[in-house]
Amino acid sequence: MGSDCLFCRIVAGELPADEVHREPGIIAFKDIHPVAETHVLVIPERHIEDLRQLQEEDAPLWLRLAQVANVVAADLGHEEGYRFYVSVGSAGGQTVPHLHIHVMAGSMRRLPS
Ligand code: AMP
Ligand code: ZN
Repeated sequence: MGSDCLFCRIVAGELPADEVHREPGIIAFKDIHPVAETHVLVIPERHIEDLRQLQEEDAPLWLRLAQVANVVAADLGHEEGYRFYVSVGSAGGQTVPHLHIHVMAGSMRRLPS
C-alpha cells in the first residue's frame, strides 16, 4: 500500500503523529479527534486493511497488538480498565482502511461514528 494510506504514511514518518509507543512492527499514537480523555490508536506497521484480512500466521501480531493496547492504557494511567474498539469495514464505521485498535479511557463522549 503506502503513499495513499494515511496510516502507512504515519508509519513511514511522512505525516506527523503524537506517538505514545513504538516497537518493531507496531506503533501507537493519539487519535487526532479524541472522543475520550485518552484516545489512542494501536496499529500494525504492515498495511492490513481490516480485521477480516488477518491470516493464521498473523496470530502473534494480533496478540501483540492487544498487549500493546494494554501497555498503552496502563502507561497512560488506566490500569482500572479501558475500551478496546475496532471498526471493521466502512459498513462497520471504519474510516481509515488500515487496521487499528481504538484504546479509549477516562471520560468518554461517544463512540466514533
Ligand atoms: P475509524 O473511524 O474506526 O476508522 O477510526 C479512524 C480514526 O482515525 C478516527 O478516530 C480519526 O479521528 C483518526 N484519525 C484520522 N486521521 C488521523 C491522523 N492523521 N492522526 C491521528 N488520528 C487520525
Ligand atoms: Zn496502510
